[in-house]
Amino acid sequence: MTVANGRAFLAIPGPTNIPDRVLQAMMRPAEELASETIVNLTDSLLADLKPVFRTKGDTFIYAANGHGGWEAALTNVLSRGDKVLVLASGRFAVGWGEMAAFMGADVEVLPGSWRSAVDPAAVEARLRADKGHEIKAVLMTQIDTASGVLNDVRAVRKALDAAGHPALFMVDGVASVGCMRFEMDAWGVDVAMSASQKGMMSSPGLAFVAANEKALAAHKTANMRTLYWDWTSRMSPLAYMKHCGTAPEHLLFGLRAAVDMIFEEGLEAVWKRHELLAGATHAAVSRWAEGQALAFNVPEPAQRAPSVTPVLVSGVETAEIMEYARKTCGVTLGLGIGDLSGKAFRIAHMGHVNAPMVLGTLGAVEMTLQAKGVPHGSGGVAAAVAYLAEAA
Ligand SMILES: *Cc1c(COP(=O)(O)O)cnc(C)c1O
Repeated sequence: MTVANGRAFLAIPGPTNIPDRVLQAMMRPAEELASETIVNLTDSLLADLKPVFRTKGDTFIYAANGHGGWEAALTNVLSRGDKVLVLASGRFAVGWGEMAAFMGADVEVLPGSWRSAVDPAAVEARLRADKGHEIKAVLMTQIDTASGVLNDVRAVRKALDAAGHPALFMVDGVASVGCMRFEMDAWGVDVAMSASQKGMMSSPGLAFVAANEKALAAHKTANMRTLYWDWTSRMSPLAYMKHCGTAPEHLLFGLRAAVDMIFEEGLEAVWKRHELLAGATHAAVSRWAEGQALAFNVPEPAQRAPSVTPVLVSGVETAEIMEYARKTCGVTLGLGIGDLSGKAFRIAHMGHVNAPMVLGTLGAVEMTLQAKGVPHGSGGVAAAVAYLAEAA
């Protein structure tokens, strides 16, 4: 038997559930690519991404996924042979660094943990040791989607400053922009990037990059530049140049609707909603963990991401949990990836989610744990409800 039929629900950390309003905004004919509608659409989105990133810097939109956004960010500011320091806290900054290495950078990974945030003191020590300032850029994720680790962007910026190091500070906000506070200018981030399909509630296929003046200065001498990603050509007043070709029109129409929804709710209210729904999820997982078979991947509560929660599982195949949740309950949970492959499932609570969606997901997980005989503390959903009743 199954109770899965009805609206299929994604509780994966990207792509996330796309609001009906965003889907409907994409249901329209294509237009001539330099039409007033398309030109205005592009200009309005480039402008409105600035408050989303909290920057007065320049913004760029690419027909690409997050990996494309990584490449866009790197190619515009680095030169072949530049040394790049990657701050590991899971899979994603490391993946960004692998891309930099492929492009000809000299990449060093500052080892970190899959279970805790990047240590600003370790960053400061490494940068102080770089007396000749060979390191040109420092790469970090705000949220590592694989480990569920939340890094303290401001604290790491302070570490760069304390070391008196001039490297560019480049931050991946794919799993955090639109989910939690991100303050590009106030926190001294030089290059930030994100993508459309997570907190931004849109179709996969768009990447965003934001750059401050320091990044634009580095751009002038960067020799990894290639035309498709190039900031200088995209800053042309010509509509055609802003996308280096035809605009990804339907994705932009969808994104326009999503950004409108975010502004109507209020960016800070969006962050607060994520914080509350993460709190509900954490309340449930804390209760389930009393049964010994489940645990948070990130033990320190302050270092847990507000957009995704990986749950460690012992004594049962994670694939079985995921299959039951999907086939019987209609909820697609995230797989453990990288170091957590086969050891965890991930509950995403990012983007277009509200109390019934998250409580429903938690209910489906609890049903799965019961049906599969996974030892767990009972009353996880009740704990989530109690948390929200108190906190919301
Ligand atoms: C999803 C994700 C990416 C990669 O995005 P794709 O669109 O899958 O290429 C990069 N960084 C983080 C933190 C992510 O969560």
